[in-house]
Amino acid sequence: MDTPFFTAWFEEITDVVAVQREHLTELDAAIGDADHGANLDRGFKAVREALAAKPPASPGAALVLAGSTLIRKVGGASGPLYGTAFREMGKAVGDAPEVSPELLAEALAAALAGVQKLGSAEEGDKTMVDALAPAVRAFSQAVRDGGDAPEAAARAALEGAAATIPLTARKGRASYLGPRSAGHEDPGAASTALILEALRATGTR
Ligand code: ADP
Ligand code: MG
Repeated sequence: MDTPFFTAWFEEITDVVAVQREHLTELDAAIGDADHGANLDRGFKAVREALAAKPPASPGAALVLAGSTLIRKVGGASGPLYGTAFREMGKAVGDAPEVSPELLAEALAAALAGVQKLGSAEEGDKTMVDALAPAVRAFSQAVRDGGDAPEAAARAALEGAAATIPLTARKGRASYLGPRSAGHEDPGAASTALILEALRATGTR
């Protein structure tokens, strides 16, 4: 996977987030403050502009630029968390001109570690970690088994996001609701599933 691949991934994320903006906002309206769709739409449109204005020289540079842009443009919890995720991915791939599936598996693990270091959420806390952690495991497992890693990760993220529905939130704004947060899908887990579905779509188009 080369620099154009990562630029295409961000294009795909920007498109899918724009399409799903209202859905993400509805999820956040139920257990948060109804800004998750707007936050990510604004953030990834800014990422697209930043990548076009200053075409990155490597996959790592694309990922770091995307992450820094999200941190700068998105207020709220998700900007720093996703920003850190992409920055950590970028640092993990370094200045490699091509990212192998094995290196992408490492980079995804670094993204998860960055999110957990910043937000200190564990699986089961009803956050994006509930989609990202199983996706990272599925990606690595598929790389080891010679399977379709993006496909496996996208499916695991979707299942992880759906599995947040019955959970009570222990991190983020939704945790203020206590048990009343149960019965709703976590918006950040839903957007993480979109981001991994975009990775799958980029790999196959
Ligand atoms: P805000 O909560 O500030 O309005 P967003 O609505 O953009 O920000 O994002 C909310 C999402 O951020 C949540 O659905 C959850 O997935 C994620 N999130 C919040 N706090 C944390 C945390 N400490 N660790 C991991 N993810 C978190
Ligand atoms: Mg919100």
